[in-house]
Amino acid sequence: MVGTDEQKERWMQPLIDGEMTSGFSMTEPLQGGGSDPKMLQTTAEKEGEEWVIDGHKWWTSGGSDADVLLVTARTDQEAHPYEGCSFVLVPTDAEGVEIARNIPHLGGEGIVEGGGIGHAEVRYNNVRVPVANTLGEENAGFQVAQVRLGPARLTHCMRYTGMATRALEIAKAYLAEREGFDSQLADKQALRFRIADAETKLHAGRTMVRNAAWRITAGEQARVEVGMAKTFVANATQDAIDLALQCCGGNGIGKDLPIAYFYESVRTFRTVDGADEVHKRVIARDAFEDLASEEIEHITRY
Ligand SMILES: Cc1cc2nc3c(=O)[nH]c(=O)nc-3n(C[C@H](O)[C@H](O)[C@H](O)COP(=O)(O)OP(=O)(O)OC[C@H]3O[C@@H](n4cnc5c(N)ncnc54)[C@H](O)[C@@H]3O)c2cc1C
Repeated sequence: MVGTDEQKERWMQPLIDGEMTSGFSMTEPLQGGGSDPKMLQTTAEKEGEEWVIDGHKWWTSGGSDADVLLVTARTDQEAHPYEGCSFVLVPTDAEGVEIARNIPHLGGEGIVEGGGIGHAEVRYNNVRVPVANTLGEENAGFQVAQVRLGPARLTHCMRYTGMATRALEIAKAYLAEREGFDSQLADKQALRFRIADAETKLHAGRTMVRNAAWRITAGEQARVEVGMAKTFVANATQDAIDLALQCCGGNGIGKDLPIAYFYESVRTFRTVDGADEVHKRVIARDAFEDLASEEIEHITRY
């Protein structure tokens, strides 16, 4: 959506063909940009036809195996960060790109052996890349990020909804087979009602995701609807997987079944791609915007 023809040929087609992988390198360690991206500290300074990039990032998913990294950097120090940041495509074999480590984390053990994706800490030590590697308009990095983040958040919702659905399927099969206290566990209403609530919330989440996707397809940014879907689904899927784990007794904790892996993995979703609180800020800002309307003034007068 934002790349030049040359960038599409060099980077996008090999990504589509599965010949290359990429990483999204935005989040920075403690003094830098995280939930508040205005705090971004990585800089890219222009020298002739090159950017010279200096900075420190972490949590760059897939970064240690990637061929190219999409790096956010301040490209205009004088401007407000929202108007002074750009995305730059940085090949990982460029001189000065230092993959410091993959960060150990909750859910880091993949279900398939060796299947966990690494989340890299990366240093950019005076890395030189052509200015032609700027992705999208120069200094429009925040707008470029939104193009990617909305749909990406929805695909994460889909992935975790699939995980929660699978966890419930396993739990229901377990409850149907297992007997205790003179009946099948699947007949205990205390469990049936909780399964019903979980199924209802997953259905609500799917509906929210479809609505946000429909809005994006229609050309809207749908930040509020994406934020609502992301926050709701992150919590609903976490609750559903927790319930499935409980229903399976010791087997839920054990790793013969995949539910324990799902449980470790789903917890990350309330934090990554915007923590719950960050999305709620956006939703609340939108909700309070109505206060400016004449109708609300009318309500408060009476
Ligand atoms: C597994 C994993 C994969 C990731 N992949 C990537 C990636 O590929 N690329 C990338 O760039 N980043 C990635 N991240 C980073 C992720 O996006 C950030 O961790 C997340 O945005 C939160 O930023 P932070 O860690 O700096 O938290 P901080 O900004 O330090 O915030 C800490 C906590 O404070 C709370 N908080 C923050 N602001 C507010 C507020 N205004 N009001 C109330 N509470 C608030 C939230 O609960 C938040 O979790 C990944 C992280 C993880 C764990």
